[in-house]
Amino acid sequence: LNRRLAEFGTTIFAEMSALALRTGAINLGQGFPDTDGPEEIREAAVRALRDGRGNQYPPGPGIPELRTAIAAHQQRGYGLAYDPDTEVLVTAGATEAIAASLLALVEPGDEVIALEPYYDSYAASIALAGGTRVPVTLRPKDGAFHLDLDELRDAVTDRTRLLLLNTPHNPTGTVLTRAELAEIAALAVERDLLVVTDEVYEHLVFDGEHVPLASFPGMRERTVTISSAGKTFSFTGWKVGWVTAAPELVTAVRSAKQFLTYVSAGPFQYAVAEALALPETYYTDLRDDLRAKRDLLAAGLTDAGFTVHRPAGTYFITTDIRPLGESDGFAFCRALPERTGVVAIPNAVFYDHRDEGAPFVRFAFCKRLSILEEAVVRLKSLA
Ligand code: PMP
Ligand code: GLN
Repeated sequence: LNRRLAEFGTTIFAEMSALALRTGAINLGQGFPDTDGPEEIREAAVRALRDGRGNQYPPGPGIPELRTAIAAHQQRGYGLAYDPDTEVLVTAGATEAIAASLLALVEPGDEVIALEPYYDSYAASIALAGGTRVPVTLRPKDGAFHLDLDELRDAVTDRTRLLLLNTPHNPTGTVLTRAELAEIAALAVERDLLVVTDEVYEHLVFDGEHVPLASFPGMRERTVTISSAGKTFSFTGWKVGWVTAAPELVTAVRSAKQFLTYVSAGPFQYAVAEALALPETYYTDLRDDLRAKRDLLAAGLTDAGFTVHRPAGTYFITTDIRPLGESDGFAFCRALPERTGVVAIPNAVFYDHRDEGAPFVRFAFCKRLSILEEAVVRLKSLA
């Protein structure tokens, strides 16, 4: 393994899901729903397969039907106009979109600012691109994690190339407010930064609203926006993601994508094009369902003795284990399946400053209510 990758090892998600299988514990670690997305969308994928649509290499940027549907989604939801032919790129999940964006836009030695805790692939993708990651830490205050805008401002140097943003934020559940995003946008314009913004949880917002960074003045031309069908439609196994950005940026990202995967799986693209045309009630039902699950798990974790940082979005709850007399999230998560039959993720893996992340543990609530109820019963034994 080369030096760029050596520090990363196996992802925590693989490790913890294997632990769940081995122990038979309830897996609230890796974030994936235990109920598949809409039946009619699965049928759309089957139809595409049967009709021979997408069984051979689809077009490099993605099938036109899907690019058109993505552009329509940005227009309908946010009033953002993107040309499906030159400003939309379909990728193999958001993961590839992130990697391809960094590989395409970062020169070796460039600094990339990322919010810490950061999704684990960010660090690896920055490293693959030869960049230097500069974490800006979100800190808990009044029951939620917050970005310190002064710290962000101070983190920008002459070598900063790019800001890698994520809102709604995994693992804290923080949703950056319009006012915060306006300041970030102003900073990006002032310091002439590119921004790659990971908005895969755009539809999973329970309190407040999701505002795309690209919608702020001066941002459309410098922002690569990333999303994915995995979270919005509960098909994490399909690996259909996308990028929307100005033509030069999309062309750059595509230059990297073409040598990573060349194209993304064909039949699923037809199905996701149909998913993006689902009525507004699909999104509100998804959100309401997850909000109830958040509330149930948050109450259960509080009863069990955790400090709960209530997420405004995503399907994760970050807890603090110190009230349980614990301080090492790694040790806690490795022992938890045997102790109570539940698997969680130690947030420390998402930090450069491991000490900052040590007492935080993440639980996913994208699971059936009966499973969450059972998890809550098991977790009570900790109290
Ligand atoms: N970004 C974030 C913040 C995520 O949580 C995830 C899913 N774990 C991804 C990107 C990856 O999305 P995909 O499965 O579409 O590659
Ligand atoms: N995004 C999901 C999570 O944060 C799953 C990620 C993965 O397995 N790579 O849990």
